Amino acid sequence: MSRTVDVPVLVEEARAGTSRAVGRLISLVDDQHPALPEVMRLLAPHTGRAHVVGITGAPGVGKSTTTNALVRELRARGQRVAVLAVDPSSPFSGGALLGDRIRMTDSAGDPDVWIRSLASRGHLGGLSVSTPQAVRVLDAAGFDTVLVETVGVGQSEVEIAGAADTTLVLLAPGMGDGIQAAKAGILEIGDVFVVNKADREGADATVRDLRHMIQLGEGTALGGWRRRVVRASAMNGEGVDDIAAAVTDHLQHLAASGALRRRRTARARDEITALAIARLRARMGDLGSGGLLERLAEQVVDGGSDPFAAVDELLETLDLSS
Ligand code: GDP
Repeated sequence: MSRTVDVPVLVEEARAGTSRAVGRLISLVDDQHPALPEVMRLLAPHTGRAHVVGITGAPGVGKSTTTNALVRELRARGQRVAVLAVDPSSPFSGGALLGDRIRMTDSAGDPDVWIRSLASRGHLGGLSVSTPQAVRVLDAAGFDTVLVETVGVGQSEVEIAGAADTTLVLLAPGMGDGIQAAKAGILEIGDVFVVNKADREGADATVRDLRHMIQLGEGTALGGWRRRVVRASAMNGEGVDDIAAAVTDHLQHLAASGALRRRRTARARDEITALAIARLRARMGDLGSGGLLERLAEQVVDGGSDPFAAVDELLETLDLSS
């Protein structure tokens, strides 16, 4: 499976802004290619510049419309922008979705915009491993903002949004959104809330409910940031400048308060943990197919061993070096 990859050349080209090289590196991430440790080692000194912005919210609320509008707005501000669409609920996001997205955006052909969906291909650790790696590639490739848009729903949606410096939570008027948001736990993760589809009836009530709920939760560990509620109609381009301004303000606040470094350290901690667990699982799988796990299980059933002793033996046998 391991095609020979000239990693140093690829990294050099990606850093010089070659889209094709960036694409190849992201594919290595998608495949969890054996050359990935070398890629990450060479990228490491060039990371830490990009502002990583997570965009989350229920399906249909307007995430991809808002993402596209935000790309336009940030481009107009002179930024290079990358978008990663991740779908935690499906291991096979990809092709068709990406095609739709590129058709949707008027940024197709702009070399300073990069849009791609990330597939986890069912590998161990899934998107919790590959998302931060893909972000590193785009960061080192010099994109000023990396928008990570979650496509699916579920708990991991919250996890992946939590992998950002700034998290945007989108809501739309109606359907008791405020309460739904609280239930899904997304009130805690949002730094900026966007009430999209403000052209529709009920937007005022949603904004009011949201402000109220946010005030109730104020004082939780956000380092003094007062969460914003922004009204927008992404379809008509209204309020998109306010979203961009709130996102920029949040970054400034993070940097000035020292919270940026804390968040990024927490993110690196999660990334290391996810990788370590993925490696542990892979080695366990190897032992399983080698028959050791089966033998230990039988000893436990026969009373010749117990689960604690079996774990000791198992861990002694595991070779956890890379
Ligand atoms: P996603 O599933 O969260 O990515 O949502 P989409 O961006 O695909 O939008 C879902 C639907 O809502 C589409 O039909 C959009 O055209 C529509 N939509 C998006 N933004 C707005 C808006 O500001 N106002 C209205 N009325 N409709 C919108």
